[in-house]
Amino acid sequence: LLSLDAATVRFGGRAVLDRVGLEVAEHEVVCVLGPSGSGKSTLLRVVAGLQPLDSGRVTLDGRDQNGVPAHRRDVGLMFQDHQLFPQRDVGANVAFGLRMHGVARRERDAEVGRLLDLVGLPGAARRAVAALSGGEQQRVALARALAPRPRLLMLDEPLGQLDRSLRERLVVELRELFGRLGTTVLAVTHDQGEAFALADRVVVMRDGRIAQSGTPVEVWQRPADAFVARFLGFEN
Ligand code: ATP
Ligand code: MG
Repeated sequence: LLSLDAATVRFGGRAVLDRVGLEVAEHEVVCVLGPSGSGKSTLLRVVAGLQPLDSGRVTLDGRDQNGVPAHRRDVGLMFQDHQLFPQRDVGANVAFGLRMHGVARRERDAEVGRLLDLVGLPGAARRAVAALSGGEQQRVALARALAPRPRLLMLDEPLGQLDRSLRERLVVELRELFGRLGTTVLAVTHDQGEAFALADRVVVMRDGRIAQSGTPVEVWQRPADAFVARFLGFEN
């Protein structure tokens, strides 16, 4: 479904994505791990069309995305800092993508209700976004990203601000939901447990490059190098 070929992005002469090659198959759930500044968010922004490449290629469904604007790509992106519309209520935020896709009002309200149940905010549609806690806002952003059922769903630290028990519950529910919907997912997380529970495949980034890509078991049992091993918390 998604393919990156030698994707490179430079900021001030430094390659923050350095000839990255990555394939994501339909229905696959891929989690990207890596230290702060390793290029994870940039990778998602490139696929979403929010960050142009300096060289290389992004292909979605076999189509080169060069020149295709963000709103014409069949991808959903939940931002790290969620970027909700603070002056609109929760329901309007979640329904945003559905409106853009011309989904009728009644259907929209029902879907918003289902999504809010799913993320643990039942009945919150009329609440003011500005009055929600950080974790609650994150859950609204997650519901908003899920709403249009994009071919490729990209999540940047989707559960980062949530407490452990909610995170563990949501990981299980998301895994089940992605399986049921057949959603293809590319998710960034810094939480290994989350990545290993959610992902069919784990990609570890270092300095704009992919240090390792494999199933959670492969990466866990055979880290490609000392960096990956250290990052996963092994002594050596
Ligand atoms: P984190 O885990 O902290 O979110 P990340 O892996 O998502 O980190 P990126 O946001 O992709 O990292 O950033 C990678 C590098 O690119 C960082 O060093 C960052 O400072 C740099 N960078 C990102 N966006 C820009 C920009 N617009 N201009 C200049 N440098 C940038
Ligand atoms: Mg980031």
